[in-house]
Amino acid sequence: MINLETPKKHRVLIDQAHQVAMNMLRPISRKYDRAEHEYPKELDMLAAMIDGLSESGASEGAGATGVRRDEKKDDGSVKNGSNLASVMSVAEMCWGDVGLLLSMPRQGLGNSAIASVANDEQLERFKGTWAAMAITEPGVGSDSANITTTATLDGDHYVINGEKIYVTSGERADSVVVWATLDRSLGRAAIKSFVVEKGTPGMRVERLEHKLGIRASDTAVIIFENCRVPAENLLGSPEVDVKQGFAGAMATFDNTRPLVAAMAVGCARASLDLTRDLLAQAGVEVDYDRPGVLQSAAAARFLQLEADWEAAQLLTMQAAWMADNRKPNSLEASMAKAKAGRVGSDVTLGCVELCGTLGYSENELLEKWARDSKILDIFEGTQQIQQLIVARRLLGLTSAQLR
Ligand SMILES: Cc1cc2nc3c(=O)[nH]c(=O)nc-3n(C[C@H](O)[C@H](O)[C@H](O)COP(=O)(O)OP(=O)(O)OC[C@H]3O[C@@H](n4cnc5c(N)ncnc54)[C@H](O)[C@@H]3O)c2cc1C
Repeated sequence: MINLETPKKHRVLIDQAHQVAMNMLRPISRKYDRAEHEYPKELDMLAAMIDGLSESGASEGAGATGVRRDEKKDDGSVKNGSNLASVMSVAEMCWGDVGLLLSMPRQGLGNSAIASVANDEQLERFKGTWAAMAITEPGVGSDSANITTTATLDGDHYVINGEKIYVTSGERADSVVVWATLDRSLGRAAIKSFVVEKGTPGMRVERLEHKLGIRASDTAVIIFENCRVPAENLLGSPEVDVKQGFAGAMATFDNTRPLVAAMAVGCARASLDLTRDLLAQAGVEVDYDRPGVLQSAAAARFLQLEADWEAAQLLTMQAAWMADNRKPNSLEASMAKAKAGRVGSDVTLGCVELCGTLGYSENELLEKWARDSKILDIFEGTQQIQQLIVARRLLGLTSAQLR
């Protein structure tokens, strides 16, 4: 049975994440929203603290790196493990600032990819790296099976050629997990991911993008020109298994989508908390024990937003809990991402609306959160793509039958 209360063993971690969000991220939130592309140096100290917690065993998953299904430890009992800890602490950190969370050293989405598909030797070798994730190309977004970046085996190296765009942390990270095809004629089964370390000849950051939100996070265009990476940097198996198709690469998303959903949950929570306070200052008290229809229009609207938020939070926790308990969670990961991605935008914009001029002005962070949340409904698979995946799974249709 799923019990979705905060597990006792994670309460300290969640509480710590909240304290960090409140005392370290919030105070610098506006500064790095304005200073786009400037590295938030304050995060170095925070990252060192998180490393310390992980090494001491006090933290089972302070961020994206905590995600892995450990088969050896499976003894059949119900677990609240690192996936649940990760989504809950990520939500807390995003209550502080999504852009800053995305800029945290060693907590990149590429780290989740490594945790999902690397073998034990690679896990050890790439321990401590900060990895960005590069899938998107100028002509390839949602249709990631059409990747054109190539990886050609040449002796004991792969030679990578292609262009990747919109790579989060692409400039700052120590390495980039790059999706490339071994052989385009073999279709999606030939797409593999490669860890390319910063400074590898043939890889260069072309430019950084200016964005609507998450401005504290750098978003890079990266070019690969005859970039040679050691063959052992191909994550997982080099075999092209046409029967398995895209499943290997897609396994990454089962882990990263609940994390992105958690980011939306955290950002929306921040908006709700501040809005409730601002409404109270304006004389509107929200009563959670009385039906919305018996309260003011503002309070009723606020309760609607709360209900939507709770649905997103529960779906996110469910997807993570299933991963902890080694249950296939692709459907639930997409449901969580679809719901939370939409709720993130609806709630943050709803809060701007409820607070009127205060919501729109830069004196409060509400307008920033409305900008920051939009990306969470786009990257790691858009709203429409998540709905498509859910529909395919529920109807038992393939991607060729429903697209
Ligand atoms: C700030 C930012 C950070 C990013 N970070 C990363 C990163 O770290 N790594 C990375 O690889 N990528 C990253 N991306 C890219 C992101 O993952 C893509 O933008 C996303 O997958 C959508 O691809 P696209 O932009 O090409 O849009 P398209 O795929 O062209 O889609 C455009 C619109 O059409 C809709 N659509 C597409 N296909 C269908 C369909 N079959 N049915 C219905 N609707 C459909 C989409 O939902 C969308 O609304 C980032 C993007 C941004 C903006």
